[in-house]
Amino acid sequence: MSRPGLAQGKKALIAGVASERSLAWAIAQALAREGAELAFSYQGERLGERVRALASETGSTIVEACDVGRDEDIENLRQAVTRRWDRLDILVHALAFAPREALTEGFTDNTDREAFRVAHDVSAYSLIGLVRAFRPLLAKARGSVVTLSYLGAERALPNYNVMGPAKASLEASVRFLAFDLGPEGIRVNAVSAGPVKTLAAAGIPGFRRMLDHVQRTAPLRRSITAEEVANTALFLLTDLSSGVTGETLYVDAGYHIVGMSFEDDPPGGGG
Ligand code: NAP
Repeated sequence: MSRPGLAQGKKALIAGVASERSLAWAIAQALAREGAELAFSYQGERLGERVRALASETGSTIVEACDVGRDEDIENLRQAVTRRWDRLDILVHALAFAPREALTEGFTDNTDREAFRVAHDVSAYSLIGLVRAFRPLLAKARGSVVTLSYLGAERALPNYNVMGPAKASLEASVRFLAFDLGPEGIRVNAVSAGPVKTLAAAGIPGFRRMLDHVQRTAPLRRSITAEEVANTALFLLTDLSSGVTGETLYVDAGYHIVGMSFEDDPPGGGG
């Protein structure tokens, strides 16, 4: 006997699909599989054709450009979605940006005021901006919001640089949004994902080494997949997690709980 989908009949807006490798796309597929109706936003016309083609695979007909660094784009997105839907059950925020020069060795020397500003604006403020815009629709549905974070929010590591403080701001914003919107029944959570090869990840120098390191030292001795991130997002976006808000949930094969591992030692090292 088939069960009803976990997201059956829910209306979900997904921001951040750039390719079929995007974490946003994996989440979209999980939501579609579980019966949600989807709308997509993407950054700019460069991506439009590709995102429209992917969206059509899910039966979605709401596909809008939205550079989250521009208030007028967020307002246009709000209007486009509001024309078609009178409530929003699910909002997925799966996007981030920092100038490439800021993501090279040397946090201090490579973080100038503009890199700091744009990384925090696009990667953290945009969550608040989108939730502000969709608050009335989310409140009608007692909706759920999920964003994507990374361990750099709370630990220092090579090359991630200014994205670390930006993700820390994102995770703090999740807590403040959850605190503020909880009385309206709106939940806000983050998934902190381990490294997965996507376009954004490819922009971080040494990404392959990060992946190898995680595979050797994480308790599960492997990296994680986009589908694993998506299934956890699905949990946070549906009624299965109805008592959870303001949380950052790790999908990283347990990497963040490790204090030390001998697996990374050179062969024959130590006594
Ligand atoms: P991705 O496929 O490259 O997605 C990143 C998305 O952000 C792209 O769609 C990108 O559009 C969009 N974006 C950047 N600036 C934007 C703006 N101003 N307005 C609207 N959209 C903008 O990479 P991803 O790995 O799936 O990233 C999704 C989220 O997961 C990010 O928050 C990332 O930090 C987080 N995350 C990723 C990993 C990982 O290892 N992959 C791990 C932990 C957390 P353009 O392509 O046009 O720039």
